Amino acid sequence: MPRRTGVLAVQGDFLEHIHMLAALKVEAVPVRLPRDLVNIDSLIIPGGESTTISRLMETFGLIEPIKDFAREGNPVWGTCAGMIVAAKHVSDLDRDTLGLIDIEVQRNAFGRQIDSFQTNITISGLKNKPFPAIFIRAPIIEKVNSNVAILAELDDGTIIAAQQKNVLVTAFHPELTTDTRVHELFLGLVNLKR
Ligand code: GLN
Repeated sequence: MPRRTGVLAVQGDFLEHIHMLAALKVEAVPVRLPRDLVNIDSLIIPGGESTTISRLMETFGLIEPIKDFAREGNPVWGTCAGMIVAAKHVSDLDRDTLGLIDIEVQRNAFGRQIDSFQTNITISGLKNKPFPAIFIRAPIIEKVNSNVAILAELDDGTIIAAQQKNVLVTAFHPELTTDTRVHELFLGLVNLKR
């Protein structure tokens, strides 16, 4: 089957993910309705506003279909707001999340004065050079369950990327850089399923 990656396209920076996938010669499918999930083998949930994304997922009937898609073992990756809606526990979100990964997330965790910044980080599995991580009103991972692998931390130990089997989350935005390595790491998860 040719590889096709879905990008949830209800709100947020889904176009940047689509461009990144195009640069990697992977067909990207905008996902707005449950039927869009049928012919894809992985799904990216972009950054944006987690309250809006979860409300629209509910409106379009996407919550249960995305949960099923992940349960079937298809790779799902949430960036920033996408990480928030993928998490099992979010301290300050007044709606249900997808609950795909057993982590506890705090929204807007970096405070006002530095609510956007860029820093070089080390991501486990990415060799050679640091990754330029862009944080925009970013969440952090406060806690991970023992079945979740921590993939990246800031110097002070703040957890900013994690993985539970086929579900990957990053608090930052690889789609806003020209570095395709996290996208490649994610796409590599599709091969695990085959
Ligand atoms: N602060 C946003 C939220 O809580 C996330 C920001 C982002 O995705 N860049 O949903």
